[in-house]
Amino acid sequence: MKRFTFGALTSLALLAAVTIVARPASAATLRVVTTTEDLAALAREVGGDKVVVVALAKGYQDPHFVDPKPSFILEISRADVLIVVGRELEIGWLPPLLANGRNAKVQAGSNGYLDASMNVKILEIPTGQITRAMGDVHPQGNPHYWLDPNNGRMIAQAIRDKFSQLDPANKAVYAQRYDDFDKRLKVAEARWDAALAPYKGVKVVTYHRSWPNFMERWGLDVIGYVEPKPGIPPTTSHTVELIEAMKEQNAHIIIFEPYFDLKTPQSIASQVGNTQVLVLAPSVGGGKTPKDAADYIGLFDFDVNTLVAALKTVTGK
Ligand SMILES: [Zn+2]
Repeated sequence: MKRFTFGALTSLALLAAVTIVARPASAATLRVVTTTEDLAALAREVGGDKVVVVALAKGYQDPHFVDPKPSFILEISRADVLIVVGRELEIGWLPPLLANGRNAKVQAGSNGYLDASMNVKILEIPTGQITRAMGDVHPQGNPHYWLDPNNGRMIAQAIRDKFSQLDPANKAVYAQRYDDFDKRLKVAEARWDAALAPYKGVKVVTYHRSWPNFMERWGLDVIGYVEPKPGIPPTTSHTVELIEAMKEQNAHIIIFEPYFDLKTPQSIASQVGNTQVLVLAPSVGGGKTPKDAADYIGLFDFDVNTLVAALKTVTGK
């Protein structure tokens, strides 16, 4: 199989750059690149028509492992702002793109670089020596933190402040748009809190450790994971232990991210019995259809509705 080198990617990027059609004039002042669709959705909430936003990874892809495309280098080379999830989520694919993009404005530490993890609640921060022992892809705490709406609020605040710093002429616009988002998010949070209130303490299993912030927010109890460690595929011995734990602790829901192999969760479900394997959207754009999880509030609407329907069936509440 032919593999692109990053040198080849750079040449392709230059080729694309000279053949690109000029974009129509717009009111936008900031070109924003985000690593994920969640960050892009939040940037659009805050930036409106003052920004043009491009997300690199799609919401239905595993954000730890993204195939770099020549277009990613081109986008980075032209960006005024780069917003990343951080906590090493993108360490497997972003650094060479940043190097090849050769854009001083958005390198780590530059004004145009925003690490969205800096002012949010991070769970599962390892104590003691931090290593990637046995392939654990969460060495700096859990990077799936956007799955708590309050963290989304904190990210949106950081984006508002960054846009205001880089584009002070539109500071009032960013402030007003953030306030509007915050209001809509509060209304939505009340809706989600009410829908999930009857299910506090219900035990669930998830495939990857994508959901600790989500589950903590609504009081569900994650008793195990299909992966033995984040980033490590299921093993027979771990699967046997998990099945026993689910039977003992009365756990009948397995939450599944759309980019893994369904075989093991389905086999676990059939051995535990009366168990649902539930595909939730781990990101904006990761829903069942393009209409689901189309923006940040829509992401939680899709996940909460899907989860509540399964919880009703399993618990009878
Ligand atoms: Zn992860």
